[in-house]
Amino acid sequence: MLATNNAKKLTELRRIVAGAAPDVEVLALADVPGYPEPAETEQTFEGNALLKARACVAATGLPAVADDSGLAVDRLNGMPGVRSARWSGADATDAANNALLLRQLFDLEGPEQRRGQFVCAMALVLPDGTEHVRLGVMPGHLRSAPAGENGFGYDPLFVPDGHDRTTAQLEPAAKDAISHRGRAIRALVPVLVDELRRTGAAVPEEAR
Ligand code: IMP
Repeated sequence: MLATNNAKKLTELRRIVAGAAPDVEVLALADVPGYPEPAETEQTFEGNALLKARACVAATGLPAVADDSGLAVDRLNGMPGVRSARWSGADATDAANNALLLRQLFDLEGPEQRRGQFVCAMALVLPDGTEHVRLGVMPGHLRSAPAGENGFGYDPLFVPDGHDRTTAQLEPAAKDAISHRGRAIRALVPVLVDELRRTGAAVPEEAR
């Protein structure tokens, strides 16, 4: 079970989990009755992912997986970081966030000066209090103008290493294969299977 509020991130999570652990159902926060959506008050991706997963366990009594992710730009000292979703303010949109980021990078030229990485922390919390976190990263650089219609967030600006197109120009499966989220989920699935086995919960057929 995973929980998120972001519709496009949910689509991506469902697609990746369907490939890695087909019988695991990914729920939206709206599907979890009584889930008190915690504010992302921590300074790290790991901290915020754990905070969300703990709140989900407290609300449901079930094992929970939650993620926190964002873009860390080298020359911005790792910002927008955990503030990626709200970078341009309370009413932030993807377009406004991208426009602000482009202004902040205006005098940085070439891929080397514009390096950054997407980071995703996936946290698993069990009802007995056991906690695991796995990180996934996707390094690359930021273009000076948006390109592409797929994905979400900063995807139209981000060119992953080894590619000459943005993650918004990649097919969804191609993004999943290299993305921070894909890497973090694929690293966490074996841990999830072990924990479900240890705690006696049902292990998906495909994962045995
Ligand atoms: P979260 O819901 O707190 O994890 O916020 C993640 C934010 O980071 C999103 O709203 C995006 O702005 C950015 N982000 C995270 N992952 C991606 C991605 O795969 N592509 C583009 N932007 C992303």
